Amino acid sequence: MFCYQCEQTAGGTGCTKVGVCGKNEDIASLQDALIYALKGISAYAYHARELGAVDEEVDAFLAEALFTTLTNVNFDLENHIELLLKAGKINLKVMEILDKANVDRFGVPEPTKVNVGTKAGPGILITGHDLLDLYELLKQTEGTGINVYTHGEMLPAHAYPELKKFKHLAGNYGGAWQNQKKEFDEFPGAIIGTTNCVLIPKESYKDRMFTCGIARLPGVQHIKDRNFKPLIDKALSLPTLPDNLVGSIMTGFHHQPVLALADKIVELVKAGKIRHFFLVGGCDGARPGRNYYTEFVEKLPKDTIVLTLACGKYRFNHLDLGEIDGIPRLLDMGQCNNAYSAIQVAVALAKAFDCSVNSLPLSINISWFEQKAVAILFTLLHLGIKNIRLGPTLPAFITPNVLQFLQEKYNIQPITTAEEDIKAMLS
Ligand code: SF4
Repeated sequence: MFCYQCEQTAGGTGCTKVGVCGKNEDIASLQDALIYALKGISAYAYHARELGAVDEEVDAFLAEALFTTLTNVNFDLENHIELLLKAGKINLKVMEILDKANVDRFGVPEPTKVNVGTKAGPGILITGHDLLDLYELLKQTEGTGINVYTHGEMLPAHAYPELKKFKHLAGNYGGAWQNQKKEFDEFPGAIIGTTNCVLIPKESYKDRMFTCGIARLPGVQHIKDRNFKPLIDKALSLPTLPDNLVGSIMTGFHHQPVLALADKIVELVKAGKIRHFFLVGGCDGARPGRNYYTEFVEKLPKDTIVLTLACGKYRFNHLDLGEIDGIPRLLDMGQCNNAYSAIQVAVALAKAFDCSVNSLPLSINISWFEQKAVAILFTLLHLGIKNIRLGPTLPAFITPNVLQFLQEKYNIQPITTAEEDIKAMLS
């Protein structure tokens, strides 16, 4: 951040006045957090806009907040914190708008078993978040003999009626974004990336990789106007995929089907059959420490329910956690923007038990990596939700002072070990 007071990079080596204008590092930290949150909000606003849903308040906030980061008189810490909480509020609104746009276009998601692996025949693997890209691809590949497979954050698409009606939406292949280079290398068909979290391809599959929409990669063919013909032609020219079904996973626990079970869930809590709910999810990444989330879910007592979303779920969505009186113990609510669904469920439970969300037997354990996770974190703080565990490390752009503020006000805590965190959360 350029500081207009000392005319240097604030807090950097040329900054001569730290201690005079005083709060530079913290302001820079809050402005970084705000810009990351704006990127997350923009991603959701982009997807909603593609589906025809726009909102004046969201657009106005993006301009206002971005402008604030360059004004030369705004060195006010409290104002920045207010802006971050407002970013959380706006992110909640844009997630709601995107959810409505997806549901209006593709129907209410329903719990769905998804095949994992491949079927014999030509195939296309689609990764990223854009359901409209998938819908257009399914329409254009219908009757061609090509099977379409989801990768990464595209998995929840299988639960939307208007997408699952296509019989050649054949299954899910691979896991989260950080495995792309290995998994795309091994996938013999054509591949398309629709949004962020798409990695620069290896030479071995670059010629069968495509991008569309917002995603671009150097040396990779870009599909324009959702005309997928070049991708389809490539898929038909490649060797066919083997018949290799390796298992199945569940998705589609959007808030609407979950809330339809609300009375039963409340009954099970009152009867002592469900002791606690955990929201475990967020972005995945390559760090070895992220195995913590697999261990965390594996070690949870059998009378607990796990709500999950985003690509962090690939750490544990293959596990069979069983059921509690017919309610699956692992409920995949969808993509990261379906944090909106998790919030709806938490709010409904709080209403049913006549208490605040913070008083529910619910603990939140978020894995963070990129900008949408930052926006979602500030949504949770805007809602006054406390005691969130954050990992695998705390964001590097948060200064000690800002962290202290977040810890004092919201009791945000870094993860420790799976055993210790489970014990603390259940106590
Ligand atoms: S959940 Fe986060 S890390 Fe994963 S694909 Fe989506 S934006 Fe990327």
